[in-house]
Order: sequence, then structure tokens, then C-alpha cells
Amino acid sequence: MEKILVSACLVGRPVRYNGSAKLVEHPRLAQWRQEGRLVAICPELTAGFSVPRPPAEISNARDGQAVLAGKGQVSEATGADVTSLYVAGAEAALATARAHACRFALLMDGSPSCGSGFIYDGSFLGRKHVGAGVTTALLRENGIEVFAETEIDVLHARLAERA
Ligand code: SF4
Repeated sequence: MEKILVSACLVGRPVRYNGSAKLVEHPRLAQWRQEGRLVAICPELTAGFSVPRPPAEISNARDGQAVLAGKGQVSEATGADVTSLYVAGAEAALATARAHACRFALLMDGSPSCGSGFIYDGSFLGRKHVGAGVTTALLRENGIEVFAETEIDVLHARLAERA
């Protein structure tokens, strides 16, 4: 049965930077969970961050792809450069995906790690732009399809096509 990599915060684990979860209550997600298909990851915790932790954004309106190419940086609001930890978290997520032969992932949008449709622009002013986080960018570079929590039905359709 096809396994799905999923952001731990979306299945209720309180691992976000502010100690919260972002539980998604959707019948398909509940079904996948019951079927044992979900492989939960939190790239930031895996990289060694704790809960809570300072918020971080990809600087200067760049995205995860730029970070992986060495042309972007992930910074905390204090200016601390945490790029290498974000890349390490992405690499750990990819290793987990490979270990479970995941071809699909459902990740929390907006995160500098897990974002897939939008991320914040590095100003810490709540400004968003189109782009992906570092983990999403690495997964996509390796052929894994990444969907946001608002795209569960789209993911379901893709799973049916690839079954
Ligand atoms: Fe959720 Fe991903 Fe942020 Fe972890 S890194 S809290 S899984 S969005």
C-alpha cells in the first residue's frame, strides 16, 4: 500500500515553532491514518531544533530551491543563520521518504521547511510569496510529489491514478 509522508503537525503533534499543532480533520486523512499509510516527519525537530523555537523564514524572498543551490539563506528573526540545519532536516526527510518508498507527501504550507505553495518572504512581517520550503524543494528534486493540506482531494486523485 502506497505510503504518504506527512508533516507531523498536520496529524496533531505539537511540534511547530510556537508549540502548537495544525491538526487537519479530513475524512481521507483519517482513512489513510487508519490504513497505516502515514509516515510522519518534522524536519526541523529531526535537525535538532526544540519546541518552542524562534520562527525562521527564507531570506530576501528566495525559496527552498535557492537555498539548496547555495543562493538563499534561512534566518531566524534575530538574523541567526540556520540554513545548514534546514538543509539537514530536508535530507533527513528525504531519507525517511526513501526508506518507506514514499512517492507522495502532504506537508504544511507556509513553512520554510514544508511549504509547497507559499512561504514567507524573510521580512517577518507576514508577507507571503509563491514558493516552496527547503524540505519540499529537496523532495521535489528527487521525484516526490508534494501537496499542501488544502490539496488532500487532489492527492487522493493522484494516488488513484498511480495505483
Ligand atoms: Fe510542521 Fe514541517 Fe514545521 Fe515540523 S517543520 S512543525 S512538520 S511544518
